[in-house]
Parts: sequence; structure tokens; C-alpha cells
Amino acid sequence: MTNVTQTAPKIGFVSLGCPKALVDSEQILTQLRAEGYDTAKSYDGADLVIVNTCGFIDAAVQESLDAIGEALNENGKVIVTGCLGAKKDADGDDIITKVHPKVLAVTGPHALGEVMDAVHTHMPKPHAPFIDLLPPQGVKLTPKHFAYLKISEGCNHRCSFCIIPSMRGDLVSRPVADVMLEAENLFKSGVKELLVISQDTSAYGVDVKFRTGFWNGRPLRTHMTQLAEALGELAAQYGAWIRLHYVYPYPHVDQVMPLMAEGKILPYLDVPLQHAHPDVLKRMKRPASGEKNIERIQAWRAMCPDITIRSTFIAGFPGETEAEFEYLLDFLKEAEIDRLGCFAYSPVEGATANDLPNAVPEEVREERRGRVMLLQEEISKKRLQAKVGKTMRVLIDEVERTGGAVGRTAADAPEIDGVVYVKAPYEPHRRLQVGEFVDVRITAADAHDLWAEA
Ligand code: SF4
Repeated sequence: MTNVTQTAPKIGFVSLGCPKALVDSEQILTQLRAEGYDTAKSYDGADLVIVNTCGFIDAAVQESLDAIGEALNENGKVIVTGCLGAKKDADGDDIITKVHPKVLAVTGPHALGEVMDAVHTHMPKPHAPFIDLLPPQGVKLTPKHFAYLKISEGCNHRCSFCIIPSMRGDLVSRPVADVMLEAENLFKSGVKELLVISQDTSAYGVDVKFRTGFWNGRPLRTHMTQLAEALGELAAQYGAWIRLHYVYPYPHVDQVMPLMAEGKILPYLDVPLQHAHPDVLKRMKRPASGEKNIERIQAWRAMCPDITIRSTFIAGFPGETEAEFEYLLDFLKEAEIDRLGCFAYSPVEGATANDLPNAVPEEVREERRGRVMLLQEEISKKRLQAKVGKTMRVLIDEVERTGGAVGRTAADAPEIDGVVYVKAPYEPHRRLQVGEFVDVRITAADAHDLWAEA
């Protein structure tokens, strides 16, 4: 990857899991580079391999264990970090060391210091680090034009289907000045879209009582609204987008609507609702479960008509009756959520929801998931069809050999939402560039994606 020094130890890296885990990986890679370590692209070229794991659902646990096994077979020197590192089995034993006793060290998630201690122990750091080779934005695993910005770690909620708090602990908000500095460095490096992530973005600052920090000599509260506004102003200087993820429907979320309506941040809100029926939400122990979500969504649309609402839902949660499920379908028909993901409930080892009575049989869970997705396809088709004929701004993600390109509008987050297929421009010598904003005219739509002319 670089020629830091001929003798710099080479570290291989395998990154699994969600965007929060990806940010942990970026921080570890950044620190490795800062200390003069080099990175290796293959197992046999590496002196040591770090595997960042995911432990959320059983399939992810297996994928992580397989990745560790592969790294041990191919290389032999392996340090493990991430959510699975904090997970115990039914006997209270460490899952990873039970399956793979030869790993050199295991840490939980968000454990930069511990991972670096393990690296120093097993692969001592080089004497003359060329720290000036490290870009100020750190090492990123995302394409150059977008990046995730993690504003806090952990979560104060205890949703009954989730074990993240037991793995990542309670909410710890990053100092607001650190977040702003990271954002500025990312913009300076060419990032055109920042995706704000955490476990609960709406709770940013709760743990520090919304302490006032300072940014560029100005006081700035550790609070989602003030942070969104400051990020929006900074993004405007670089012509970039700010997108908010993992926001719960608390009343104070209304305060970011004017920022969206004025174009300071993208009119896009990722609100994981998980269900609509109040009894199911109570059994799920969801944050903001007492809120009237339909009214909240309608109020957001009244304040910011262009808003795109994204959400995820769980079908077949323990005890979900057919009536409760139909209540969810009615909610979805009325709410017309723009972007929706639905999962059939899957028990996660260690989650308290496993002890709830009246588990829903697997085929019913799958069938209900199918019904949600069928309904959503109709809703999404209708909402995307309404965009045909409009001119929209697109951020280009990929350029094809033919000159055509794939991009996203404000309504599409990378990886999880749809895309816009942009026809090659008519002008000769005009080639679209990755990371470029282009105004396009939407010519066609299906249930997920759009087609357009530049
Ligand atoms: S809000 Fe609920 S689902 Fe999200 S991380 Fe916290 S406990 Fe888990």
C-alpha cells in the first residue's frame, strides 16, 4: 500500500460488520499508519492479521468465526477485535477463544488502545515512524467521496431484541470539537457526503448533559441539532452533503426539520421504528415507543415536504398477533415510508426477547416479512414514479466505460437505498467523474431505482 520503510511490519486487516464497526477499523488503520506500520493486501504478505468482527446475529457470528479461522490457517498470527470479542456463550465462556484458542488477543468493539497494545506486544512498532505520510483524515475504507462520521459509541436503551449495549456499553458521546475537526479533515480530503452515525444519534450529548464545547472559537453544544447545524455550515463551504442516520422519533427531532427545509443538511431521516403497534413496541422496549409516529411523520412532511424517510421493521416479533401485524401494515399504508427494510425476527443469543412467550413460527415470520415487502414495493413504486420528469441533483458513485454513471440523490444513502442510472452526457468530451454533483432529469423509475439523463 505504501513504502513507509523497507522494514515496517505489515499488518493485514479484515473488517466485518456495520458502519460503526467500519469506523473502528478506520481508526485502528489510522493509528497503525500513524505509528509507521504498513498494511498488507494478502495473508501471506502480512506479519500479523487483525480481524474486526460482528456479533449481531447468528449468521454474522459464523461469518466472523470463519474469517478468524481463515486468517489463522493462512497467516497464523491473529488479533481479534469487535462485537464478537465481547460475546460470551451460554456457559459464560469467551466464544472466540473457545473456537479458536490460537488467537493472540481478543478485544471488544471500540477498543483502539487495547488493539494497539496487542499489536505492540506481538509485532513491536518500528523505530522511525513517518507520521507525515498519514493523511489528516486518517485511513478510510469508504470511497474517497463519502465517509461515515461516528459521533458516539454505545447506547442507553435496552431494546429486548438487541445485545449491542452489552457489547458496546452505555452511550459515550465524542467531544463536539473532535467531531467537527474530523468532519473538516474529511471535507478537506475531498469527501462530498458525510453520513452521521451512532447507535442513537438523537441522544447525542445526553451522557455529558449537552455540555458546551468550542469549535473555531465559538461555543457549540454537544447536541444533535446544534451539531447538525454546524456540520451543515461547514459542509456548505466545501459543497458537500450531510446525512443523518439512526435518529429516534423524539419531539426534539422536529428541530432539525428547518435545517433540512433550508438545505443545510439533506432532507433525509433514517428512523428505525421496528414496529407500529404500541404493545409490540412495549415488548421490544423501544426508545420513544410512546410517540405517535404517524403524527410525527406527517408533521415532518409538513415542515419539510421533500423529506425522505427511511426505516426498518421487524416482522414476527415474539407474541406478535395477526391483528398487531395488520396494524403495522395499516401504519405502513398510511405513513408511506420512502425507504424501508423489513427483517423476519431472528433470535439473538443473549437477548431478553428470547424469553418472551408465544414465539411466532419461522414460516409465519417469513410470510409476514414477505407481505410487508410486497406492500412496500407498491408504495415505493408510486413514490419513485412521482419523481419522473423532475430535475434532481445526483452525486456520482461510479462511472461506466460507456460514459454512463451510477449516482444517488439526496433520497438515497449509499449501500442501503436505491441508485440513479445516469445516461452518458450528450456533449462530446464530457465525462462524468466519481464524486461530482450533476443535475439530471429523471426519465424512468421502478420500485427501487431511477433512470436519468445528465
Ligand atoms: S436503540 Fe435499541 S436496537 Fe438500537 S442499539 Fe440501543 S438497544 Fe440496540
